[in-house]
Amino acid sequence: MEEFTSGEVYQKEFDPQAYLEYFDLGSDSLGNEAVTFYLECFCKTFTPDFLKGDTLIDLGSGPCIYQFMSACESFENIIASDYLDQNLQEIEKWRKNEPGAFDWSSIGMYVCELEGKRAKWSEKEAKLRRAIQQVLKCDVTLQNPMAPLRLPPVDCVLSTECLESACKDQASYRAALSNVSSLLKPGGHLVLSGLAETTFLMVGSRKFSILFLTEKFQREALAENGFTIIQFKTQPRIDKMTMDLCDFAALYFIIAQKVKEA
Ligand code: SAH
Repeated sequence: MEEFTSGEVYQKEFDPQAYLEYFDLGSDSLGNEAVTFYLECFCKTFTPDFLKGDTLIDLGSGPCIYQFMSACESFENIIASDYLDQNLQEIEKWRKNEPGAFDWSSIGMYVCELEGKRAKWSEKEAKLRRAIQQVLKCDVTLQNPMAPLRLPPVDCVLSTECLESACKDQASYRAALSNVSSLLKPGGHLVLSGLAETTFLMVGSRKFSILFLTEKFQREALAENGFTIIQFKTQPRIDKMTMDLCDFAALYFIIAQKVKEA
């Protein structure tokens, strides 16, 4: 087992620029497989006849906005959040279209193609900039992850590769699900995606621990916290050439509905 990389380690050593290298779709990188899987799932999920609502909170956004490209078509108000100031700054840089912001256009054009719309990326980009209304600090290990703010409960919480990064063990993962549930309205949806059966992820030259998650454990932990699973999709790993960057065995995508208070 890898030594747990706590929030303090993230604060000192997580380099947003190194992490963003995973989002170069033109390269033959590890990111390709995961990002295209997530984007395809988001595209099928965030449609006006499936998941829609007013407000969506994304927990542990990292320095990224790719996860909102389909969501901005069915949610008007998107709240991005992360534990790290350096990641929030990166999102703000993109949102304000400042020099040096990461170029998301190749991923954006890929999503426009997936959605099969003629809508151009430039139009989606403007819509997305309008939709991301807040960029906030969060900590999923706190009972109220948005503390000291107290947000009104929302229709949808999204989180990708965050809980497995933030949680040290199964008990803290279960507790984090309960924390996350408190942000949702009854009947609201939790959309979780990430890396299954993984122990680490490299960001530049720094190794970050990832909690080893199995489908059985995630199903139990969600049920215990008052969620009904609507969809549980996994995709076994295809590319084994980049095991030195991350040892994930499969990707998962879950849609769960809050049926009870945790
Ligand atoms: N969601 C992004 C980033 C995933 S990387 C993506 O899809 O690529 C994992 C993220 O979890 C990092 O941005 C890290 O800062 C964040 N994180 C780590 N501990 C956290 C905590 N306790 N609360 C919230 N976010 C945390």
